[in-house]
Amino acid sequence: MAQYIKQVLCLVLTLAVAAAAAYGSEKMDYVVTNNARGSAGGARFDKEIGAQYARQTLMTATDFIHRLFQQNQNAADTKSVQRVSMIIENIDEVAFASNNNIHVSSGFIERYPQSQDIKREITGLLYHQMAHLLQWDGNGQAPSGLMEGIADYVRMKAGYAADHWNPPGVGNDWHQGYEVTAHFLNYCDGIRNGFVAALNKKMMTGYSEGYFTELLGKPVTQLWSDYKAMYANN
Ligand SMILES: [Zn+2]
Repeated sequence: MAQYIKQVLCLVLTLAVAAAAAYGSEKMDYVVTNNARGSAGGARFDKEIGAQYARQTLMTATDFIHRLFQQNQNAADTKSVQRVSMIIENIDEVAFASNNNIHVSSGFIERYPQSQDIKREITGLLYHQMAHLLQWDGNGQAPSGLMEGIADYVRMKAGYAADHWNPPGVGNDWHQGYEVTAHFLNYCDGIRNGFVAALNKKMMTGYSEGYFTELLGKPVTQLWSDYKAMYANN
């Protein structure tokens, strides 16, 4: 009898773990590789950040982004990613994402001021890059400034806005990208809670500026003018 109860308990536990895994980062594989161990940047990564912390951050970021985008791991409108690799290496860019690989520059880590928090900066950078892996791109039609804006919006909402960012209200165009667009998207999300999640969902199959009008009742150019007017006296 005791044996039977044990077996049933074991089955229940197994099902519970499987259910949890179906909706979270547990279902994905994360691999962090430091290919710059011989360099000062690679050594600083190991000392001040570490592969284990980076891997945990990628997992936390995945769950955060799914919540922000209002998506479940297995839903049809959720981007399917099985394995994420982060590679620290000698590249010209600070970081970029492609084919579910996140490349981070060892030179950037090396040159980042010693007086500043490199761990926090890389955390924010990983939220940004992870957003690129999980966001929709309107079948390649969405403006790159909007893509970068959504990625920085994710970073901002996670609490990792960079020190060097411009404040809200700065910028010449809504699709200028990065924090300029992120602040504008935050303004739009203030008009309609969940706007960015809804916009990302619409971008699964295509892209049109009309999505802003559909979701917020005003053309994006009008929204940008309203937004700029709010900060005109600052
Ligand atoms: Zn980016």
